[in-house]
Amino acid sequence: MTQEHANKGGFETRAIHAGYEPDPTTGAVNPPIYASSTYKQDGVGGLRGGYEYSRSANPTRTALEGALAAVESGERGFAFASGLAAEDTLLRSLTRPGDHLVIPDDAYGGTFRLVDKVAKPWGVEHTPAPISDLDKVAAAIEPGRTRLVWVETPTNPLLNIGDIEALATIAHDAGALLVVDNTFASPYLQQPLTLGADVVVHSTTKYVGGHSDVVGGALVVRDLELADRIGFHQNAMGAVAGPFDAYLTHRGLKTLAVRMDRHCDNAERIVDFLCAHPAVGDVIYPGLETHPGHHVAGKQMKRFGGMISFRVRAGEQKALDVCAATEVFTLGESLGGVESLIEHPGRMTHASVAGTELEVPGDLIRLSVGIETVEDLIDDLDRALG
Ligand code: PLP
Repeated sequence: MTQEHANKGGFETRAIHAGYEPDPTTGAVNPPIYASSTYKQDGVGGLRGGYEYSRSANPTRTALEGALAAVESGERGFAFASGLAAEDTLLRSLTRPGDHLVIPDDAYGGTFRLVDKVAKPWGVEHTPAPISDLDKVAAAIEPGRTRLVWVETPTNPLLNIGDIEALATIAHDAGALLVVDNTFASPYLQQPLTLGADVVVHSTTKYVGGHSDVVGGALVVRDLELADRIGFHQNAMGAVAGPFDAYLTHRGLKTLAVRMDRHCDNAERIVDFLCAHPAVGDVIYPGLETHPGHHVAGKQMKRFGGMISFRVRAGEQKALDVCAATEVFTLGESLGGVESLIEHPGRMTHASVAGTELEVPGDLIRLSVGIETVEDLIDDLDRALG
């Protein structure tokens, strides 16, 4: 299929065909893993196939980057060694000492650590704000100094929802750009660039890769001037995805739509089970009508995703015991893979925000619902909750 044709297709067609046409020499339908750091040139200054050195560009990574741009309805995609490498490159590309950011008050712990312990000492300050409260986000902006309004939606791990269209207007009115970390939703459920966001961030380690076998990150933009700045820094800083990782991530992306639908089906069944369980307190899932962001999530997401957080009535020790007792749910960090994971954010993914305003409740458990047989998942939780 030609790229013009692929890019006009529906989501699944783009995920499978964008970024790569079968190799004209061999007919290979999948992008080969170009394990080559350098490329033979036709002469001094003459590029043979457009490639010279694999930090600058590598054909396996180019294929993934084209596919990422297509599934996010963007113009250019950039693949990195990890989500945090993508975030770091973005911060260096778009901010300078003296600038200011607005970040979610329940940002992913690693993002907070990057902003607080790396960007701040470099001179870029930040103000945390609840991304579901538009007035508070607007109030956190420092006119003339805020360069980026950075949001996750849904957030990790509290699954708060930010209204992307409204946040884009707030950011743009203040002369700032809106960055959306789309890791939790994945491009199948939500495409922030179509709602006015300027940059999409991914930890492709999660739903995009989808099999817990590769760490990676991505940035996608529509604006070509922004793309040039990011492209310059991607090469200058060098935190790129290697060809093996790019291949695995691209392979995962092709099945994102079918996996995501099953993640959502299973999550909906588990939410029903948890809501009826006497040991469980609040169940946090944007698909619940009682969730404060339900309406906005319904407007901007195709479905409500595979992540669930819930609080255990008996407190922190019981939450730790439940996390240790499941057998089908694996106790582990990360999310978005085919296998179900359970974790205690306060002691695991969000330990780095303990003692700050971003600290999460000790009785909170986070589930990344996989695509196993849903009855097995429910039985497992039932047993662990006791
Ligand atoms: N953004 C979110 C929402 C995440 O959950 C994570 C990792 O868990 C990251 C960014 C960082 O990505 P990585 O672990 O690939 O560096």
